[in-house]
Amino acid sequence: MNLIFLGPPGAGKGTQAKRLEGLHGIVQLSTGDMLRAEVQGGTEIGRKAKAVMDSGGLVSDEILIAMLAARVRRPDCARGFILDGFPRTTVQAAALDAMLAELGLRIDAVLSLQVDEAELTERIAGRFTCAKCGTGYHERFKQPKVAGTCDVCGSHDFIHRADDKRETVAARLEAYRRQTAPILPHYAAQGLVHAIDGMADIDTVSAAIDAALQPGTHEKLN
Ligand code: AMP
Repeated sequence: MNLIFLGPPGAGKGTQAKRLEGLHGIVQLSTGDMLRAEVQGGTEIGRKAKAVMDSGGLVSDEILIAMLAARVRRPDCARGFILDGFPRTTVQAAALDAMLAELGLRIDAVLSLQVDEAELTERIAGRFTCAKCGTGYHERFKQPKVAGTCDVCGSHDFIHRADDKRETVAARLEAYRRQTAPILPHYAAQGLVHAIDGMADIDTVSAAIDAALQPGTHEKLN
């Protein structure tokens, strides 16, 4: 099963993609995580991407397409993948179609997380992740069970993303509206889009996603 998560920053794409990964044995491909790893590693891609990411803009299609083309060919994608943060432009969507056609694959569903943008800044400002295993938390909605200790790996180090500052979030939302939202009709025309209410609590959103992925579900926004 190959899925795409679409939605503005803070919509819950990463949280829900990680959960589905565990449930279905398919792999989460977060282009944001891949880019952050490049920045961390001080690679050429990382150096090119850093300033753009810090300003809340989108990194070039050329870099992203090459990165994803290499990633979907890795053996761990054989059972399927969840695209989290890709495609983000119409050029990337067209490149993805070509890539999948070449590999004899297709997208099975696009999960479109619908959220109220006014609340997103608050949501994003409160989030943090475990520095060691990447598990996501939130100051209001999902604190670690034991304060200061990661539920999954026991680490005591947590990080706030550099681009989760209020000013940058505004730019990221604008990039979503102008460059990413226009790709929805492309998938709607293929009957693939499932609209999910992303404002509900995490478990309710998960249940809605599970229902949408049941075979024969027709509640689509197309
Ligand atoms: P994310 O973790 O998905 O919010 O991505 C963090 C940042 O990485 C974005 O604000 C962009 O600067 C960059 N980025 C991630 N995925 C893409 C993409 N598909 N196209 C362009 N830039 C991307």
